[in-house]
This record gives sequence, structure tokens and C-alpha cells, in this order.
Amino acid sequence: MKKNYESPEIDKGAFTCPNCSAFSKHDWESIYINEGEGYFAYNASIESGDKYSKLKLCKCENCGYISFWYKKKLIWPLNTGVEAPIDDMPEDIKNLYKEASSILELSPRGACAILRLALQKLCNRLANQEEKKKIDGAIKKLVENGLPKTLQKAMDTVRIMGDEAVHPGEINIDDNKDMAIAMFRLMNIIVEKVIVEPQEIDELYKLMPEEKLKGIENRDKKEQN
Ligand SMILES: [Zn+2]
Repeated sequence: MKKNYESPEIDKGAFTCPNCSAFSKHDWESIYINEGEGYFAYNASIESGDKYSKLKLCKCENCGYISFWYKKKLIWPLNTGVEAPIDDMPEDIKNLYKEASSILELSPRGACAILRLALQKLCNRLANQEEKKKIDGAIKKLVENGLPKTLQKAMDTVRIMGDEAVHPGEINIDDNKDMAIAMFRLMNIIVEKVIVEPQEIDELYKLMPEEKLKGIENRDKKEQN
């Protein structure tokens, strides 16, 4: 869901480069590998039956970066297509985010399950309860405490995708890598809105003259009466 992002796919002529992030043309070369008998060949004219697996090298025309694809799967780099976690993401959540992005290519399902765990930790922390408590209850508590509707939707989307990943569900996440990628975007949005923005606003608010802040306190007391 990242704007203008075109995910890399085997034999695609142009996509968003995992290295320079530009939408660029990509050139493909193949090496034919016979794992069982232990040899390889560069020549496409060899007999390419079941004995051979293709290792493909894909070069970005913009920056020259080369990605590696084996048996039609991207094997390097590992974290293609996922935006970096925002700086102010709590460290343990950030580690889970990175772990999820490192397996995205091999298992979008596994990535969604790890992101769900990251969200569970975050929501329980925000709701001031133990991290192992159910995520559903944590979101409910946050909604009661005034969580905006848009964030509730973002949290529930990551939660449901994570549930679908670990239980037999209706969404086949391994066939929907773009949806898995979108979950990373949602995690960044959630952290930005529930942690970063309130912190920034608080810091600016504290800089207001004390008298004015007392005035606001009194005004709100009056409103409550
Ligand atoms: Zn590039």
C-alpha cells in the first residue's frame, strides 16, 4: 500500500528496486544448477529438465543492485518492499517488525503472525496490562479510553490478518503478499499515531506559559461542573 510501490516478482521487467527504491527497469540472467549431481551451467541451451533449478540474477538499471532468485523465489535481499520501522518505535516492537520483514519473501503468513505478536505487545502496553493478555481485550480497552476509530480499524486489521495466518482462515496470505506488506505500513501508522504524535504534542504543550496552562485547567474544570 506504500504509494507507487510495485512489488518485485520473478521475470518482471520493471518494479520498485529493493535497494534504491526507484521504480526501475530490471534485467534478468539465469544460471542453471543441478543440485543432485553438483554442477551448474550458464548456457540456457542445456537440457533444462527437472534436473536443473534456475538461479536468477536480477539487476536494477538505476543503481546496479543485484537481487538473487532461486526456484522462482527471491532469496536476497530478505526485506524487500517493506518500509523501515519508524525511529520512535519501541525497541522490542521494532525487533519483531524487523524479524517479520526478514521472512516476508519466504513466508508472508509467518510475517503476519509475528506482526500480530508485535501489535499484541504494543496494545497491552498502551492499555496498561500484561503483554500476554488477549489482544482483542486490549483493543476494546483502548477504544473505551478514546482510541480513534481509524486506529481501531488499523489495529483490528493487523489482528485479523495475524489470526488468519495462524488459524485456518478465509484469506490465503501466502497468495496475498501485498496484503502482508500493507500490514507493515499499518504498524508504522499505529506507532506514529499512538506514540510519536502524542509525545510531540505533549512536548510543545509543556512549553506554553504556566499561567495559560492553569487557565486551561480551570476552564475544563468549569466545563465539567
Ligand atoms: Zn536500484
